[in-house]
Amino acid sequence: MDAYDVAIVGAGPGGLAAAIKAKELGLSFVVLEKGESILQGIIDTYPGGKKVYPTIPKGASEIFPSPDLEPANEPVEVYVDKVRNNLAAHDIDVRLGEDAHELIQEEKRFQVVTSQGSYTCASVILAFGKSIPRDLGIYGEATHVRRRLDDPDQFIGNASLVIGGGNAAADIVAALSRAKRTAEDGSSVYWAHRRGQFRVDKEVARDLGEEILLGGNIRILHEAIPRIGEMDANGVNRLLIGIHDVEVADGIRVHRGLSFPMQHVIACIGMQGPAAVFEKLGLELITSDKITGKKPKSGKQGARFIMLDSQLQTSTEGIYAIGAAISPAYASVDDVGSLARSKHSDLIYSAASDGIKVVEAIAERRNV
Ligand SMILES: Cc1cc2nc3c(=O)[nH]c(=O)nc-3n(C[C@H](O)[C@H](O)[C@H](O)COP(=O)(O)OP(=O)(O)OC[C@H]3O[C@@H](n4cnc5c(N)ncnc54)[C@H](O)[C@@H]3O)c2cc1C
Repeated sequence: MDAYDVAIVGAGPGGLAAAIKAKELGLSFVVLEKGESILQGIIDTYPGGKKVYPTIPKGASEIFPSPDLEPANEPVEVYVDKVRNNLAAHDIDVRLGEDAHELIQEEKRFQVVTSQGSYTCASVILAFGKSIPRDLGIYGEATHVRRRLDDPDQFIGNASLVIGGGNAAADIVAALSRAKRTAEDGSSVYWAHRRGQFRVDKEVARDLGEEILLGGNIRILHEAIPRIGEMDANGVNRLLIGIHDVEVADGIRVHRGLSFPMQHVIACIGMQGPAAVFEKLGLELITSDKITGKKPKSGKQGARFIMLDSQLQTSTEGIYAIGAAISPAYASVDDVGSLARSKHSDLIYSAASDGIKVVEAIAERRNV
């Protein structure tokens, strides 16, 4: 077949907003999703029953960019069904089970190679989110610490620990507490963050506040740092989290902490940006010191950012990157080549808004 105007990699909110816009503008397109469902990234990372909030980034328009993807505080399962129906109404087909792993440039076209085949297109939108969980950075971390909440009922009857200071951790704390309260289980949910303050959006805070008022047994541990993973005398893998550390004399420290079986711990400390994936696809990245001019702390490599122009186009003309894949920041290059670090919020709103913007740019390029 002829080349598609655009191949969209990932059927999250960013990729789907792009597909809806492409359909509206009459572009030919293909949506490639590695999972078994649309919104697989959301299905994999949200706790069951979590409400999906229509959070608007600071300073953005109050009008949600893509009405078909606008959440209405409904549980995630209802949200996924709603979006599925909306896509069907637009007659948009998503190719599932297509893991894109290579991009080949041929003159003015690209081949997107997936686990199932290869697709020729004039432009590519990389909307693959981010899916590599960050390390806890403790000795003996092992694979025993969970990264997501599949089934809150598995935690009933045991005190549980959620590590992380953001929205995702807060959602899990609320979901666990709700499940324990419903089961009349008195065991606590400990919520630990290495800093003194949690960073959550107002909708998430409201949900959590409601859970506490309803009797949720949530215990907050500020400045609590995961210290060590170890196996106890009974062969149970445990995680020690430090909550108090004082120097007494001669370099001796008194250390107080709590130790949890790792199977009762969920570490929700975010995902790593997909720098490695961008690099594998041959796209240009830049280290933070090159943007800010500040040297990274000795021994540390500065974070790497994808370089994008004002239309979210990468250094390869015709390849665009959007959504969570470019959050929390990317290196923006303006028309005269100046670089800046651009913050980018990791929200459905932002991903959808990016998808629309990029497809409009592709349609404009095609029509000139
Ligand atoms: C726990 C949690 C709660 C959140 N709650 C909210 C909320 O209430 N409201 C809100 O606005 N935002 C929320 N967010 C953020 C929001 O979910 C993301 O900003 C949004 O999903 C980003 O959309 P995206 O399309 O960029 O990426 P994703 O949603 O991650 O979608 C990327 C898709 O690409 C697919 N993919 C990955 N690699 C490949 C590949 N190689 N080939 C083909 N397909 C691939 C993935 O399977 C996935 O389906 C939350 C995030 C988390 C983790």
